Amino acid sequence: MLRQSFSGGIVIPNPHPVETVEIISAPLPNKVVLPLQQRIGDEASPCVKVGDKVLTGQVIAKTEDHFCVPIHASISGKVVAIDEHAIPHKSGLKSRCITIESDGKDQWVEHKGCGTDFLHCDQSTMIEYIQASGIVGLGGAGFPAHAKLEGIQDCHTLIINGTECEPGIMCDDALMQYYPREVIRGVEVLLHICGAQRAIIAVEDDKQEALNSLLMYCHNDRISIEQIPTKYTSGAEKLLVKVLLGIEIPSGGFAIDVGVVCQNVATTKAIFDAVVDNKPLISRIVTVTGSGVESPNNYEVRLGASFEHIVSMSNPNTNQHAIRMGGMMMGVDVESTHAPICKITNCIFVNNIEVKPSTQECIRCGQCNQACPVDLLPQQLYWYAKSENTDKAMDYNLADCIECRCCDYVCPSHIPLAEYFSFAKALHRKTTEDQYRTDIARERFEFREYRLERNNRERAEMMAAKKEELKKKMANDKAQKDKIAAAMARVKKAKKSK
Ligand code: SF4
Ligand code: SF4
Repeated sequence: MLRQSFSGGIVIPNPHPVETVEIISAPLPNKVVLPLQQRIGDEASPCVKVGDKVLTGQVIAKTEDHFCVPIHASISGKVVAIDEHAIPHKSGLKSRCITIESDGKDQWVEHKGCGTDFLHCDQSTMIEYIQASGIVGLGGAGFPAHAKLEGIQDCHTLIINGTECEPGIMCDDALMQYYPREVIRGVEVLLHICGAQRAIIAVEDDKQEALNSLLMYCHNDRISIEQIPTKYTSGAEKLLVKVLLGIEIPSGGFAIDVGVVCQNVATTKAIFDAVVDNKPLISRIVTVTGSGVESPNNYEVRLGASFEHIVSMSNPNTNQHAIRMGGMMMGVDVESTHAPICKITNCIFVNNIEVKPSTQECIRCGQCNQACPVDLLPQQLYWYAKSENTDKAMDYNLADCIECRCCDYVCPSHIPLAEYFSFAKALHRKTTEDQYRTDIARERFEFREYRLERNNRERAEMMAAKKEELKKKMANDKAQKDKIAAAMARVKKAKKSK
């Protein structure tokens, strides 16, 4: 069934379409560079040293942080360095990485999973295998899959997100066409873990081949495959839940708050690999596209191989290139193609460098308001963000902005609105933290003042009470003395009268 659309969002045709979507298996790289810092959590500590021989799939670094996943060797060979290396991050900073030189053998270490009889495995064992296999969200978020699946209660629907996050990316389309059996079985594993009654695989309506492949392998009544309109950003979790189920996730809430678990389709296949096929996550499918390559394509490539390893297979031209990881809208600029492919590298854009149009004043045309898929008022938010009035921007639900850049895309004045919003959110976080620290300091000071004042008051009351007691005692003593004197006077008088 083709679902209803949602207000806002934009239709952007694939800027570099291909005739047939395929997956090319990239050759084993001679060397891989694996960062110790993952997207979320603590940096992992190496459990190998320079000179050690490692097997494909062997754990080479881990951390005690339960939120994190271990890091596996993606090829067999020798550890040749543990040092700083450029990573694909917008900061351009280097990070500690383990470098392995290939022995060309690709010898695997044995891994434990549930095997094909996975329905007899309990949920917590499955989640342990998912964590031990290093699985994180492959749609670009990099959130550890086990953390999303732990402690789930009252989940009625599992949504498998088969929509490409952005125009130009083709890796999930290719994955559904080439691995439909693994995707369907992965959905069955997830249904078993979440206890949901049903699962919906969402596929965009321009991906007929992917839909046909999945339909061919889906023989489970609890799983349906549904088409949704091809419109950016229909893959955003909140919008997907709204389009498929008609449920609004409240502001600041998550899908699980309304009984829904969402997983990306590539993550689902990786979960199948881990639980049923006993294989850790050591490779992924990456799209290489952009104006700087002649043959955009998808490559199945080992993690840690350089961008260059697959970009060279797409016939890049000789121009100077701007490299972007993760999509034309929400991706991040990367300095060079020497960076290593990591778990969240779903796409590499290789673009000829072009002069960007200059930013003009806002002409209040309101086009940004119409484009926003989450019903915000970007024009209004822009004024507040620009004047650093973050409290007011928060009143206009700045926190709900998913930084999709639909507003930027339609803005005739070329204002980088999403950048303003990202900055305003960071500023608000900082101001709130500073305010929190100021409040705590003020409370401490006020409490100290109160304590001193209370001590002084209590001391004064105690002194006054003591003084009063003494006064009473003295008055008592005097009365006693007077009584004795009167008695003695009486005795004396009696003696005289005798
Ligand atoms: S689209 Fe651009 S110019 Fe138009 S109202 Fe929004 S910010 Fe202003
Ligand atoms: S970047 Fe934020 S404000 Fe702009 S369209 Fe996307 S969600 Fe709306």
